[in-house]
Amino acid sequence: MTVGFAGLGIMGAPMALNLLRGGQAVRVWNRTPAACAPLVAEGAVAVASPAELSAGCGITFAMLADPAAALAVACGPGGIVEGLAPGHGYVDMSTVDPQTSTSLAAAVTAGGGRFLEAPVSGSRQPAEQGRLVIMAAGDRSLYDEAAPLLDLLGSRRLFLGEEAGLAARMKLVVNLVMGGMMTAFAEGLALARATGLPTADLLEILDSGAVANPMFRGKGPRMLADDFGAAFPLKHMAKDLRLARELAAQTGLALPTGTAAHDAFAAALVAGDGDLDFSAVYRNVTGRAVAD
Ligand code: NAP
Repeated sequence: MTVGFAGLGIMGAPMALNLLRGGQAVRVWNRTPAACAPLVAEGAVAVASPAELSAGCGITFAMLADPAAALAVACGPGGIVEGLAPGHGYVDMSTVDPQTSTSLAAAVTAGGGRFLEAPVSGSRQPAEQGRLVIMAAGDRSLYDEAAPLLDLLGSRRLFLGEEAGLAARMKLVVNLVMGGMMTAFAEGLALARATGLPTADLLEILDSGAVANPMFRGKGPRMLADDFGAAFPLKHMAKDLRLARELAAQTGLALPTGTAAHDAFAAALVAGDGDLDFSAVYRNVTGRAVAD
C-alpha cells in the first residue's frame, strides 16, 4: 500500500521520513512545494494536490498548522475528500479543536472514506526519533490497519474511542497543562534572575525534586542562553491554549491559570515571537528584558 503525507513542517517532515525509512512507499504534498524536495531525495514522490494524494494512497496522514489548515486541506478545492476512493483512510494528526475533528470525520465519511484523528505529544526530536505519543480516536478499523505505520511514528499509542473529537479534547488538555507549566517555569527563571539567584543552581534544584521533568531539563539551559530556535512554535501553543479555553467555556469551567497562560502566549504572539520556540514566552514574562 502507498502511504500519503500532507504537511511537511517541523513535525510532518521527519514523520514522513520515518514512514519512508520504515520501508513504505510514500507520496507527499505540502502547500509550499519546496518542502517536498528533501523527502523526494529520500525516495518519496511529490504530488500536486491533496486530492491527488488521497486518490493514490490507501492511507493518507496529515500534520497541519491549525483548524483552518486542516479544513482547507481536507475539504477545500482539490482537497483530500475529492480524491478519496471507497474505504481509503485519512489520519489527521494536527492539533485542532473537537468541532474541526467532527467536521473532518463527517466530510471524509460522506466521501466514502474512513477517518481517524491522531494528535501527538512530543516535539521535533521525538518526531525525528519516531518516539511520539499518539492519541487516536475515530474509525477503529482504520486505527488497527494504520497501527504498523503509527508505530513508525510513535513509541506509545492510545485508542481513546470511536467518537471523533475525543483525541482532540485530550490533546488540548495535555497542552493546557504544558502551557501552564512553561509559563510558571518562565516566571520562576525571571524571578530568580531578578533577585540575583544563580539560575544554574535553580535548574539543578528543580531537576532534583518532585517537579523534575524533561521539558524543564531540556528547555531551561536554552532559555537562559536566549536560544529560542523553534521545536514547537509559540504560535501553535497560543493556538492550543485558545482552543483549550474555548473547550472549557463550553463546559462552564473558568480555567484561571490557563487563562493567564493563554494571555502570556497571546502577548508574546502580538510582540512578534510566534515563530520562536514556545519557551520564548520567557521573553514576555521578563518584560522582554532578556533579549531586547
Ligand atoms: P509548522 O512547522 O508550522 O508546519 C505547519 C504545516 O502546515 C506546514 O506544512 C504548512 O505548510 C502547513 N500549513 C499551514 N497553513 C496551511 C494552509 N492554510 N493550507 C495548507 N497547509 C498549511 O508546524 P508543526 O510544528 O509541524 O506543527 C504541526 C501541527 O502539529 C500543529 O497543529 C501543531 O500544533 C502540532 N504539534 C506540534 C508539535 C511541535 O513540537 N512542533 C508537537 C505536537 C503537535 P507551509 O510549509 O506551506 O507553510
